[in-house]
Amino acid sequence: MRRRRNFSPPNENDLKMSNWRIPLSDLDYGQEESIAVQRVLDSRWLSMGTEVSRFEEQFAAMCGVKHAIAVSNGTAALHLSFLALGIGSGDEILQPALNFVAAANMTIAIGATPVFGDIISLDEPTISPDEIKKLLTPRTKAIVVMHYGGYSARMAEIKSICNDRHVALVEDACHAVGSRYFHRQNLPPHGSMVGALGDVACFSFFGNKNLATGEGGMITTDRDDLAEKLRKLRSHGMTTLTWDRHMGHANGYDVVTNGFNCRMDEIHAALGTEQLKKLKKGNARRGELTQLYRAKLSQLAGWTLPFLKYKGDSSCHLMVVLAPDKTTRTNILARLKEQRIQTSQHYPCIPDFSAFSKWRLSNVPLTREFAGRVMTLPLYPGMTEKMVDEVCQTLGTAK
Ligand SMILES: *Cc1c(COP(=O)(O)O)cnc(C)c1O
Repeated sequence: MRRRRNFSPPNENDLKMSNWRIPLSDLDYGQEESIAVQRVLDSRWLSMGTEVSRFEEQFAAMCGVKHAIAVSNGTAALHLSFLALGIGSGDEILQPALNFVAAANMTIAIGATPVFGDIISLDEPTISPDEIKKLLTPRTKAIVVMHYGGYSARMAEIKSICNDRHVALVEDACHAVGSRYFHRQNLPPHGSMVGALGDVACFSFFGNKNLATGEGGMITTDRDDLAEKLRKLRSHGMTTLTWDRHMGHANGYDVVTNGFNCRMDEIHAALGTEQLKKLKKGNARRGELTQLYRAKLSQLAGWTLPFLKYKGDSSCHLMVVLAPDKTTRTNILARLKEQRIQTSQHYPCIPDFSAFSKWRLSNVPLTREFAGRVMTLPLYPGMTEKMVDEVCQTLGTAK
């Protein structure tokens, strides 16, 4: 599935274009998913009910956290998390300039100000703890980390800064479902799963993520106070759900806070439960393919392969390489397209987007260099080794 700028029905030309020989990503779907959807249809209950509860319980167990709150998508997860943490107008949220735009957009949606920090290095493109120390102000209410490509940020260092400064820690874990954090000296949270590393973590189940339901998201937390607020915010601040009333557990309800409708429905939850069963195997396969890519590409002069020295257990969401320079990237991207091999770029530097022109002066030179050279190559569990070979051969023609 690929993101479209503005959705319009595909015309003939589009269909030809989307006829990639090797797509960027592909669903790991089979009969199991069809049966799960049919199970929901047969149950005659479509929104939050037993499927959502089951998916939440299993997701929480996988992450090793007390609470998992299913929501409509990853952006809603970020939005509700910021609100539950009490962030609003006049507050700052320190976050990576190298990220999907969702966290930055939700920062602005709640009336807060994003402050963009640079990455550690081209080898390790997650937010730098030194940058965080430099950019913290008395108005900083939260720090967002993004586990780029499934490789976790420097959580021990960042967590200790957050504890010292009484700042909330939010994981944008959309790439990292099933990743486990590793620290060389076993400092906490060494050994914990992504989703259990901060105050709250946000996941996405968009169609190209490791766990895909189409639209969908999850918030995980160990904090009872946040979980309660998040459940209220998800469903209009109401004290009971339609399901509770359907089951005869409740008659009326009160509205105790001003909330939203960010609920997940039963069909997406049923798909999520099936996908969760495939997660470990799918991530392991991504890991094998990543190793294969690396073995073939590491000899290419001038190219950079991020996270080669990474020690944790990554979900291997993205296979990312940096071209020696922008021109080489342009040439290779064109050549891959000719071969009908789909690529992407994760991500442009957020302060360079038109809507973020107020932040254009953000001092994030490494992010800008990374954004100018990065390309994302196809990676998904159903990909064959022969396909990896083909992609690498095209890269090998770089001059
Ligand atoms: C996908 C993604 C999001 C947004 O999730 P949606 O479900 O598309 O709203 C946020 N952050 C990152 C890093 C993502 O990859």
